[in-house]
Amino acid sequence: MAKKKKSHYHADMLSVEEAREKILHEFNSLDEVRISLNESLGCVISKDIISNISVPPWNNSAMDGYAIILEDVKNASDKNIIYLDVIEEIAAGELPEKKIISGQSARIMTGAPIPEGSNAVVPFEDTDELTSTSSDLIGIKIDVENFENIRKKGEDISKGDLIIKKGVEISPAVIGVLASIGVSTIDVFRRPKIGILSTGNELIEPGQSIKDGKIYNSNTFTIYSLTKSFGANPITQTHSLDSIEDLEKKLNNFEDVDLIVTSAGVSKGDYDVVKDVLSKNGDMNFWSVNMRPAKPLAFGKINIKSKSIPLLGLPGNPVSAMIAFEKFGRYAIDKMMGKKIKHRPVIKAVLQENIYNDDGRRLYARVKVEKSNISSEIIATPLKNQSSGVLTSMFLSNGLAICPSGTDILKKGQEIDVEMFGWNEEISEIIN
Ligand code: AMP
Ligand code: MG
Repeated sequence: MAKKKKSHYHADMLSVEEAREKILHEFNSLDEVRISLNESLGCVISKDIISNISVPPWNNSAMDGYAIILEDVKNASDKNIIYLDVIEEIAAGELPEKKIISGQSARIMTGAPIPEGSNAVVPFEDTDELTSTSSDLIGIKIDVENFENIRKKGEDISKGDLIIKKGVEISPAVIGVLASIGVSTIDVFRRPKIGILSTGNELIEPGQSIKDGKIYNSNTFTIYSLTKSFGANPITQTHSLDSIEDLEKKLNNFEDVDLIVTSAGVSKGDYDVVKDVLSKNGDMNFWSVNMRPAKPLAFGKINIKSKSIPLLGLPGNPVSAMIAFEKFGRYAIDKMMGKKIKHRPVIKAVLQENIYNDDGRRLYARVKVEKSNISSEIIATPLKNQSSGVLTSMFLSNGLAICPSGTDILKKGQEIDVEMFGWNEEISEIIN
């Protein structure tokens, strides 16, 4: 009988997708708030936006030049200069006072309203402005088309238009458009407050001097900054010791948050103070997720004073904590903010070294993706040390190569899927 292949199937493991679904099930978009435009970047609009004005509000000049009547300058050229009277000058911010009739023009600046009667603007460089000695007369050297160099009223936005729908994520361009219609505050789904707490007797805080047996707490800082980058408001405190009293005391400070994120102490098998405290004070699940890094994950609700607050317990290893927060925390935050589910872009890249997958979980291997300098290919080089304790691998890489569950090896030269968490110009060049 053929030797049985080692089974990778773990009956009690959740897939990444199953775990995420269970988590997302517990969240909804938060309440709506009105905030100022400059605070709204990354939030989601909670009410349709209809414009009360047209943009531009009136026909205006796209050039510094002369507002004319095009029929007056038919066949004008360098050799056939046509002279018009200049009846006024209109600067941006001013209104024309006179109507243009045949034989007349107005000197006009970019953005100034087109005077009545005019149907085109001739730029300065196509006139004799520089050489002329008269300010009452201008020589036109070109023939223009109807509405040439005129920006039409409402060509950007018409009054009454639905310009931005509920559900749109606010980008700098959205902010600009809102400002252009005179809006200064906007209704959005509130940014969630995320309480972040690292746990572990081995931790000391950055800024303190290093001690034997201690390591610096980095998880609080990566999770804080990821939280900010996801658009939520992080709240932190000094890490908790692995003691019931300290942990309970610190968790109690998170009475007002929408989600608590802890790190460390959630591995399934072992006894841990963190697990004990969480189980005792709430309804927590301790999962094994079919992924590497970040297999152990806790999720549930915990009672803080009179409230029941969702809690995501990340594994302690710095890389695992970051990847688990990206895979689960970000989705929960996005949902609270009213965003649609957004996966990271997955691209194809040619693998430069074998990636081995020892235990059959879905492996997210940190790779550096770049444009090859010998071919036009996109290549992915795995970082040498894939340990979940090696945090530098997270900044030296820009993507996670996905080795599917049950696949033992991704071979050098093979085209693989890479989930990009950092993009770069060189890659965009080929892909776009
Ligand atoms: P644990 O999940 O408690 O088994 O921790 C796994 C590993 O992560 C251990 O080596 C811890 O020292 C390390 N670790 C736990 N918390 C942090 C933290 N906040 N910052 C950096 N490393 C940590
Ligand atoms: Mg620990």
